[in-house]
Amino acid sequence: MSTVLQLKSITKAYGDMRALNGIDLALPGDAYISLLGPSGSGKTTLLRVIAGFEHPDAGAILFDGKRIDTVAPHQRGIGFVFQNFALFPHLSVAQNIAFGLENRDVDPVTDRRIVDARVRDIISLVGLSGLEGRAVTQISGGQRQRVALARTLVTEPRMVLLDEPLGALDANLRARMRAELRAIRERCGVTFLHVTGSEAEALGMGDTVLVLESGRIAQSADSDTVYNRPASPAVARFLNCYNLFAGRIEGGAFVGGVGRFALGASAPTRAASPAYAIRYDRVSVRPRDTAIAEDEIRIEANFVASEYSGAAVNSFFALDDGKVFEVESHLSHAAPETYAEQGRYALVWKREDALVYA
Ligand code: ADP
Ligand code: MG
Repeated sequence: MSTVLQLKSITKAYGDMRALNGIDLALPGDAYISLLGPSGSGKTTLLRVIAGFEHPDAGAILFDGKRIDTVAPHQRGIGFVFQNFALFPHLSVAQNIAFGLENRDVDPVTDRRIVDARVRDIISLVGLSGLEGRAVTQISGGQRQRVALARTLVTEPRMVLLDEPLGALDANLRARMRAELRAIRERCGVTFLHVTGSEAEALGMGDTVLVLESGRIAQSADSDTVYNRPASPAVARFLNCYNLFAGRIEGGAFVGGVGRFALGASAPTRAASPAYAIRYDRVSVRPRDTAIAEDEIRIEANFVASEYSGAAVNSFFALDDGKVFEVESHLSHAAPETYAEQGRYALVWKREDALVYA
């Protein structure tokens, strides 16, 4: 797929704070891109630089192969959906959507019939038909989110930036809007760059997932790759589904706070400092006296608590060095195991399932 947006060595500092520290990326056209990063990692700054609300200190931004660094924000053909929606409370749904079209600097549309037709099309595209005349104060949060998106889409941007677009919605609605946003994007065929602090949202929505860490792109890959092969211990930590150990590699084993883990055949991933990661759902909980196979690793820990969430149970164990270790079991047919409070168990995984960073 051809590249629509390219950033080369973009940096942006506020005083001593390097919000963006050398960003290189190339985004394809007609794709859903998630940008995942912890709070303060530079997500909003990156969107504002792309939109033109902020000027980078150095680097280049190309849109369709042409530099747009000096092009004014409203002439970039890039739409921006703000987290708080920023709707006009005294205007109706249709009036809010028409506003951007009638009042844009470039090529405002003044013919009433054209405005009405375009607004009608976009209202149907985002699924708001029937609510045209409603005040935006009298619709739900999810509907307000659609109005905010429609107001951007009606101006026919060639790319849309969304800053934590689902952050203001409750959990139920958030899950439903994920599928909705993907469907709306497919209908209009432009690239969406969706910023989120939620790993589930980023992995579930993005054709490509970018992970931002301290102003740098730590990984850029499809969601399967990010989930199964996080590029660094920091990415693994941020995904919230890996137990991580710090330590050192010594004679074919990883030596950490709770023992030696023999290494599998796969070569370690290069990283700034050694780490060992095992995913929550790759660990089984067994009786303390369990025997293990040649290719397995075993540690002991005390059960603390379990937490049920839909199709899975997450159980927390205290390791002997005081750290918490998490195990996720998917509930298929079997009833969930129950563990004795403070009971001592063996936690077992396969050598090959661990990710080793060196
Ligand atoms: P995120 O959206 O990932 O939470 P931001 O891009 O908002 O992160 O911020 C990145 C860093 O830059 C933070 O440390 C933040 O405090 C700082 N920052 C952002 N905007 C400004 C600003 N206008 N003035 C000073 N510092 C800022
Ligand atoms: Mg932000």
